[in-house]
Order: sequence, then C-alpha cells, then structure tokens
Amino acid sequence: MFSDNKALFTHQLLQWNETQNHRPLPWKGIKNPYFIWLSEIILQQTRVEQGLPYYLKFTEKYPTISDLANAPEDEIMKMWEGLGYYSRARNLHAAAKYVADELNGNFPETYEEIKKLKGVGDYTAAAIASFAYNLPYAVVDGNVYRVLSRFFGIETPIDSTEGKKQFTILAQELIDKKKPAIYNQAIMDFGARHCTPAKPLCLFCNMQANCVAFQTGNTDKLPIKSKKKKKKTRYFNYIILENSENEIAVNKRLGKDIWLNLYEFILLETEKEITLKEIRAKAKEILQINTEQLEIVASYKQLLTHQKIISKFAYIKINELVNNKNFNFIKKEAIKQLAFPKSLKQFIDNSDIF
Ligand code: SF4
Repeated sequence: MFSDNKALFTHQLLQWNETQNHRPLPWKGIKNPYFIWLSEIILQQTRVEQGLPYYLKFTEKYPTISDLANAPEDEIMKMWEGLGYYSRARNLHAAAKYVADELNGNFPETYEEIKKLKGVGDYTAAAIASFAYNLPYAVVDGNVYRVLSRFFGIETPIDSTEGKKQFTILAQELIDKKKPAIYNQAIMDFGARHCTPAKPLCLFCNMQANCVAFQTGNTDKLPIKSKKKKKKTRYFNYIILENSENEIAVNKRLGKDIWLNLYEFILLETEKEITLKEIRAKAKEILQINTEQLEIVASYKQLLTHQKIISKFAYIKINELVNNKNFNFIKKEAIKQLAFPKSLKQFIDNSDIF
C-alpha cells in the first residue's frame, strides 16, 4: 500500500492525529493570520501551558494588528513580562508597525513575504503559511528533528549544517501537500506530547513497528547533538536604594546585552560572588552614600539559554535625596507597573519592600 517508509510515516502520523490527538487549543484551526502569528511568536521557546494565558491576554487587548502596532512599547513589554526572550516582544511590535504602516494593515499572504516580518524565521513562516493559507511548507524545529531522527534512525547531528539541510529536505518530502495545516499541527503535537525528549510513549505508539529507534533500542540516543554549549554564570548584585520620598532607583537596560528595554535596580555586576562587605564598599564608592545599613534581602537564580544569572538583592533606605543621572527615582507604588526581568519580578512580588 505504501511505496516507502516516508509515505508510511505521513499516513501513520495523520492516523495518530485523528485517533489520539485530542488537545483543543484556542489557536488550533483558526485562519486569522494575525492570531496565528501571535501564537507562534509566543510559543517560540515557551511551553504551551506557559504561553496560553499570554496569548489570551494579547488577543483580548489587541484584537487587530493595528491595535498592537499603536500600543506603546513599554505597555507591550509589561504584557510580555515573565515570558522571557524579550527580543520577541520588540520584534512583534516592529513587525506589527510594518504591517500597519507599509501593508495597510493586511497581513502578508505568501511564505516569502511572511518571512520578511521581523522575528519570523523558517519555522514560524511555515507554520503561518500552512495554518492561515494552507500552503505546503513543512515546519522544522526541535520536535520535528527528534521525531524524524528516531523514526528514520538518522544519526546526523541536528546542530550541524549537514543535519539541518538533511532534516529540512526530508520534512518537506513528508508533508501532506493536500493537508499541510493538519500535517504540521500533527507533527508539532506528536513531538510535544507523544514522542517526547524523555520517556516517549513508545508502548502506545502506532508507529513503533516501523520506528528505527524503537526497533533498535535507541530512542534515548536520538537525536544526536554534536556540541553542548556551556552556560556562562554572571553575578548581578542589585542595590534597592530608597530615598526620603519613598522612591526607588531604577534603570532601563540599554545596549547589546540581555533584557534590553526592561527595568532593573542599580546593578553592580561582578566576575564572581561577593560578600555583603564588598557590596557595601562598591555601592559606597559608586553612590557616594553611607552604606552601613545596606542588607542583603534575597537572592535568586535564573537560567537563560546560554547564561546562568545569580542575582543578589541588597536594600537600603536613606534619609536624603540622591542626584545621579544614571538612574531615575520612581514612586514605590509605580514600580509594579514597569516591566522587569523574571527574577526581579519574582523578587518584587515576594518582597514586602513594595
Ligand atoms: S515508537 Fe517511540 S520513538 Fe518511535 S515514533 Fe513512537 S514514540 Fe517516537
């Protein structure tokens, strides 16, 4: 019945989708390209459970792409707070403005035009093109690499140029040209929920008889990665400086580092972990204030893709006003309206200072 393993794979994947994949999500089956694009950007590097409330609040607050384009950037950053990878929010805003201003609010309709949007790569363009317009472009991401490398027993490293090319060509051969939207959604769901990185559901899998990894006992070895990047550890010592007017010093992050355009407190970054005594000495030197009352009130760890951030928070209240052009004093009550990185938000939410 099937000329080769490829046709069999597509057939069995769609069969799994019809019989075992029952997961209703608000963006499944919709044709509105703006909503599809929003959901895809939110779900980049984010689990569905975490992204879902963000999708709902974005679509409610900005029902059209022009609403999103016209929103202030600080408001969008605040809405995005806690989701991480903040360049996505900035790109989202830039792309919305481009569609509103240059394309009269009409979302692009071809794969090539969709790919011109800021923050949209091959994967997202394929997802939007197939879901919104039923165009036959196969999605290729970590889930797809895993499923294909296991089913076909491919040992080419997925992070090599050769691997990326091989998997992209194969994925494009496998897509059901008549049902590209259903096929793409099926392979995404199959990778996310069934053929998972750890403990794939092989015993309940309708593909096991033809799956090379299962038949050879190699599910835990595939896919293969050639290199593992070591995470760099950074030490952020934050000074929460409160003046006599109950205002706190904050700063907007600029430049080519993480957390661009998010807010933070006075930052002393150090090469290694330092003691309270050293924090007091550094703060005294920079701020020109008496720091004897400065105390560490919390510390948090945050893991980013390539970095581990260890943040210490030290608080001091002073009975004077401080003039320093490097930061602004904001009323304590207004602090929660600003967008902070995740570990700072956690600190603010759990601290009785605010
Ligand atoms: S048998 Fe296991 S490894 Fe193979 S496709 Fe199914 S879940 Fe994935």
